[in-house]
Amino acid sequence: MEPSLKLVCLDLDGVIYRGDSFIDGAVFFVEKLREYGITYLFVTNSTLRPRSFYAEKLSKGGIPATPETVITAAYATYRYLLNRERLKPFKVFLLGEDGLRNELSLLNCFFLDEHSQEPSDYVVVGLDRAINYQKICKATKDLLNGAKFVGVNNDALWPVEDGFMPGVGAFVAALRAASGRRPYIVGKPNTFMLRLAMEKADATEKEVLMVGDKLDSDILMGNRAKVRTALVLTGVTSPEEALSASGMLKPDIVAEDLYQLWDVIKNQI
Ligand SMILES: [Mg+2]
Repeated sequence: MEPSLKLVCLDLDGVIYRGDSFIDGAVFFVEKLREYGITYLFVTNSTLRPRSFYAEKLSKGGIPATPETVITAAYATYRYLLNRERLKPFKVFLLGEDGLRNELSLLNCFFLDEHSQEPSDYVVVGLDRAINYQKICKATKDLLNGAKFVGVNNDALWPVEDGFMPGVGAFVAALRAASGRRPYIVGKPNTFMLRLAMEKADATEKEVLMVGDKLDSDILMGNRAKVRTALVLTGVTSPEEALSASGMLKPDIVAEDLYQLWDVIKNQI
């Protein structure tokens, strides 16, 4: 019989690891997927680091991964712009750092800086820890001139070791307020990254399980894409929040951790 589960998409933070420590069950779960021949891909809203960074981190933690098995929001933004523009040359004003710039540099695009008088075709907003008033001025001016507005993700907060820092969503909100324009957001909960994963694995909705720790990003994305969803309680969501989730935020499965999730799904494959 054909296996009904072909692809498992896994969020990273709160599912596989927390900061630098790997969560119990993560190595076991991925071993099982490998044993059963189920494809796994990692889907993360991060914008700062290249995919090779995550592949290396995962491999060091005992989870076999290559850059091709990691879909970051930065990489997805590259794919989104490639889909739209193909080989046509275009101009980008980027709020972002090297990780994002490197992904986008594979496009036929030219990066303008904040001093440029030329209008850009796209204002792309990622995490930029050197953001300043001049950059916000340039982005606002271009948006008022009709540049397309792309946010790599819309996460208001960026989790770091000892708490939170302002995330991409904070910059997106500032530019929305200034320009009155609405952005296209590439990252979760948009389904774009999940669609990339499904295309890569050649999987249909029924053959996919999305595993995450956050209701309004991982689970919402999965439900919007009409795939099965599983919430693990090893990250940001409490058991009470998981139980009271409804509508598009409601996961199909709630599991304590990836050990328990495997117990639940092993009978369905
Ligand atoms: Mg997470």
